[in-house]
Amino acid sequence: MEICDRCGSAIRPGEIRYIVQMSIAADDGGIVLDPVPEDVMEAIITELDGVDSVDIAKQVYESNSFILCIKCKRVFMRNPFGGKDRGDTTEDDISRMFH
Ligand SMILES: [Zn+2]
Repeated sequence: MEICDRCGSAIRPGEIRYIVQMSIAADDGGIVLDPVPEDVMEAIITELDGVDSVDIAKQVYESNSFILCIKCKRVFMRNPFGGKDRGDTTEDDISRMFH
C-alpha cells in the first residue's frame, strides 16, 4: 500500500493516485560574466574545495517525485508551495467536498 507524501493517508490498491515529478535548477539570472574572470574562478574553486561533489550537483539541479492522493492533488495544484492562499477555494473547502 502506498502513502500520500502530503497527508500520509494510505492509498489503497486500485485507488487513483497522482505522481508529482519535480525538478529544480539553479539559474544565475544572467549575472555571471562570460568569461568568468580568473580571480572570480579561483575564489569559486577555493570555496568549493572539499565540498562533496554530490552536494554541489544538488545545488545546481535536483529532481524528485512524490505520490499524492486525490484530495492532496487538488490542494497541491491550487497552491503547490503552500504559500498564502489566493482567496478562492481553501483546503477546508476541498476537505468538505470529499467528506
Ligand atoms: Zn493526501
